Amino acid sequence: MEFCRSQILALVALFLFPVAYGWGIDGHLITCRIAQPRLSKAAADAVENLLPAYADNDLGSVCAWADRVKFHYHWSSALHFIDTPDNLCTYQYSRDCKDEDGIKDRCVAGAINNYTTQLLTYGNENSASQYNLTEALLFLSHFMGDIHQPLHVGFTSDRGANTIDVHWYTRKTVLHHVWDNSIIETEEERFYDSNVNEMIDAIQKNITTVWAKQAKAWEACSKTTCPDLYASEGIKAACDWAYKGVHEDSVLEDDYFLTRSPMVNLRLAQGGVRLAATLNRIFG
Ligand SMILES: [Zn+2]
Repeated sequence: MEFCRSQILALVALFLFPVAYGWGIDGHLITCRIAQPRLSKAAADAVENLLPAYADNDLGSVCAWADRVKFHYHWSSALHFIDTPDNLCTYQYSRDCKDEDGIKDRCVAGAINNYTTQLLTYGNENSASQYNLTEALLFLSHFMGDIHQPLHVGFTSDRGANTIDVHWYTRKTVLHHVWDNSIIETEEERFYDSNVNEMIDAIQKNITTVWAKQAKAWEACSKTTCPDLYASEGIKAACDWAYKGVHEDSVLEDDYFLTRSPMVNLRLAQGGVRLAATLNRIFG
C-alpha cells in the first residue's frame, strides 16, 4: 500500500512540478530545511517513512506541495490563512477561524490542529488507515510555515494585503506577495549570492547563537502544537511591520526592505523550530 501511494504522489508531482515552481517556494523550503535536522530519532524515522519516495527523505522538497494541490483539492484553499477583523490587530480562534462561508475550524490554525490529530494516530494500527498520513505530514509542514507569514493572518477586507497594490523597487506587485516572496528573494540576491542554502545556513547559525535562548521559548507549548499563539504573533507582526506605513501605490525600497527583513528571518526561524518541536511531540 505504501508503495502504491508513493507512486500516485509521484505521478501527481510529475504533472504539477514543471508549471508550479515560483511563488512562495523558498519560504516553505527554508522552514522545512530548518526543521528536519532538529527532529528526534523517532520523529526523523516517522518522517522518512511517511515522505513520498520522490522526496528522497528531503522534507523541504515537498514543503510547497500544499500550494500546488490547492486547485485539485479545492476544499484546502481556505486552510492556508486566517482573516481577522480589519485594524483590530488581534486574533481569536472562536471568532476568526472559519472560511468565507462561515464554516468553523476552516483556517490555518484549525488545519494545524486537524493534521496534528491525524498524525498522532501514526503507528496505531486500528485508526491509522482512515487517514492519509503522508498528506497529513505535507499539509502540517506547509501550514506551520504559512501561519508564521505575518500576512497569512491579515485583515479581512484586503484579503491579507492581497488587494494592496505596491511597487517593490520598480516592480508592480501586491503587499501580500512582498511578504510571501520579494523580501526573501531580495535577501538571497543581495546577501547570499542568490543561493537559498546560504540563507538557510545563516538562519540556522542564528538559531544556535543569537537566538539560542529564545529558540527554547519558541518550542514551548503545553499541548502538541500551539497554532493560536503563532497566529496571535502573526497578526501583531502584520500590524507592526507589514501594514505599517504602507498604503495603496506605496513604493517600497531599501527603507522597508532593511527594516522588515529581520522580521521575515525571525518568522522563518520560528516556523522551522516549531515545526520540528511539533513533530517531535507527535512522534516522540
Ligand atoms: Zn500556503
